[in-house]
Amino acid sequence: METTSNSSDFIREIVKEDLQAGKVQQVVTRFPPEPNGYLHIGHAKSICINFEIAKDFNGKTNLRFDDTNPLKEDVEYVNAIKEDVAWLGFTWDGLFFASDYFEEMYDRAVVLIKKGNAFVDDLSAEEIRQTRGTLTEPGQNSPFRDRTVEENLDLFARMRAGEFKDGEKVLRAKIDMSSPNINLRDPVIYRIAHATHHNTGDKWCIYPMYAFAHPLEDAIEGVSHSLCTLEFKDQRPLYDWVIRECEMPHISHQYEFGRLSLTDTIMSKRYLKKLVDEGVVDGWDDPRMPTISGLRRRGFTPESIRTFVRELGVTVGSGEVDYKMLEHYIREDLKLKAPRTMGVIRPLKVVITNYPEDQVELLDAEVNPEVPEMGTKQIPFSREIYIEQDDFMEVPAAKYFRLFPGNEVRLKNAYFIKCHDVVKDENGQVVELHCTYDVETKSGSGFTGRKVKGTIHWVDAKSAVPVEFRLYESLLTGSKEDGDFIDRMNPNSLEVVHGYVGADLQTAQPQDKFQFFRHGYFNVDPKDSTPEHKVFNLIVSLKSSFQIK
Ligand code: ATP
Ligand code: MG
Repeated sequence: METTSNSSDFIREIVKEDLQAGKVQQVVTRFPPEPNGYLHIGHAKSICINFEIAKDFNGKTNLRFDDTNPLKEDVEYVNAIKEDVAWLGFTWDGLFFASDYFEEMYDRAVVLIKKGNAFVDDLSAEEIRQTRGTLTEPGQNSPFRDRTVEENLDLFARMRAGEFKDGEKVLRAKIDMSSPNINLRDPVIYRIAHATHHNTGDKWCIYPMYAFAHPLEDAIEGVSHSLCTLEFKDQRPLYDWVIRECEMPHISHQYEFGRLSLTDTIMSKRYLKKLVDEGVVDGWDDPRMPTISGLRRRGFTPESIRTFVRELGVTVGSGEVDYKMLEHYIREDLKLKAPRTMGVIRPLKVVITNYPEDQVELLDAEVNPEVPEMGTKQIPFSREIYIEQDDFMEVPAAKYFRLFPGNEVRLKNAYFIKCHDVVKDENGQVVELHCTYDVETKSGSGFTGRKVKGTIHWVDAKSAVPVEFRLYESLLTGSKEDGDFIDRMNPNSLEVVHGYVGADLQTAQPQDKFQFFRHGYFNVDPKDSTPEHKVFNLIVSLKSSFQIK
């Protein structure tokens, strides 16, 4: 992947030159989503690039909904997109809808017709496809290509008036059926669709195609640099043709950068919508989704996403980026922000048999040892605690330094304990441990009498808060060779377990983030948590060798 540093990538170089040469007075960019789904992490790349480049040059950025296809679009998506862009930390200068320009676009199409640069075609979509030619063969002219200007004007007006059914006629640009660039072979620029539009209602029954609408939208808004992904590169000559032939007073230019794709991640609204519609996930904001709303609910921060995109750079290649890179930036961001605490995911009860029955003591703990300013807190400790099932082995494996009969470990922030008895249920499962503690070994007491090799986490049983943990893995497994994404769904992408957190998290609020000692970063799920029943989403594990599984 070709990467350039953020402060001097190839697009910023172009912008700088345009300003220096006086070609551009005011930098204007836009983020132009189609409101046909929720935004994903790929869109975040486009959002950051558009907003940050404009900001670097004192420019402006519009949020423009490219809503030219009423069949797929919805206000639900418009609202979600606005929320996501704002949450990422960007403020748009203008908020526009392509549909607000339908009248002007229609007039511009009429300009084309009058110049003999567009014609109404009766061929079906299939016939148009069949006569388009190939990369090696030219296409064939439509038999309707030579209609007179008058006839075209009349038919186009009647298309608008609703005289024809969907698919009966289209308006095509008249360019060159033998162009080596297939995009220039008389592309369709208007089609008939009798459908109610989320913004314009039933006012229109003809809609402009993307390749025609987009350059006009940019020119109408005075966009200086229209930044899009590489698959539009071949459309650039058509983009320029539309602006020129439609005689737009402002001339916008298109530049392309590499699309973001991530390992084990589906990144297309069409497929993401399928997962939502088929109930494979719990909505667009399911924490396993690569959507902005899913990442937010999972616990990602806007800062981590922005840093991730910035570090990717404005690449011209479209290589697949490792999802681990995104995880790296959320860890980095939360490391100094998130309070550290203890949570037990798969609890095993421990009774400290030599600890006084009714005693409860408060132990000092730092909120975040790397950030002393975050202060200290007190955590209760008493006769019964929960530890992690994984932290005990009745018959220890080689190099197992945690708890086993006869072995001593440190309880984080507390004491050394030593296991002397194991209680089992009728199936032979260990259900409880009996341990003793050594009062001399209290954390912070300066005890140097002897050392232990393992430190484990725990939660005081009496004051523990029962919670639900949702542990995530990627939605997809395997590789592209393993087939379609639907065959690659990871059956273990979500595991729900019930455990405990300390009393200090009793008051945790939705979207609060914590680092659970030895486990990783967790977010209080904003959708399914209630004050009585908190749900903690695993954002990302710690880099440590400790495995949740
Ligand atoms: P999808 O294929 O996921 O539906 P799209 O390109 O159709 O995405 P739009 O709403 O049309 O989605 O995109 C808005 C902007 O976001 C476009 O400029 C598009 O190029 C950009 N964009 C979409 N996906 C990515 C991606 N994976 N990486 C970078 N930019 C992207
Ligand atoms: Mg699209």
